[in-house]
Amino acid sequence: MLEIMSPFLVLGTLGALIGFGLAFAAEKLKVEPDKRMQGIYELLPQLDCGACGYPGCEAFAEGIVEGEVEKLSQCKPGNDKHFNAIIAYLKDHPDEDGNIIKIQK
Ligand code: SF4
Repeated sequence: MLEIMSPFLVLGTLGALIGFGLAFAAEKLKVEPDKRMQGIYELLPQLDCGACGYPGCEAFAEGIVEGEVEKLSQCKPGNDKHFNAIIAYLKDHPDEDGNIIKIQK
């Protein structure tokens, strides 16, 4: 009987250990997204049209936070209302080191 059960016990134990290891690693290595991304996203037109060269508004907001986006006017449906609001938002929300993202309209 033990001969029949031993592969199941070994594989079950191994699976459980790997599962716990992956769960532990996922928790320890979790990267929190920059909270400013959501704030910027909410100020964009939210059309997800891709005219900016990014796959959607969330990706464009991420590009702004990461310093990839040179000009807000890359967002073609956006206008001064959107761009001014984003610039003001960025001035009010520096990173944890106090650095402010500077970006042109
Ligand atoms: S162009 Fe503007 S509205 Fe269109 S996906 Fe890019 S950020 Fe969103």
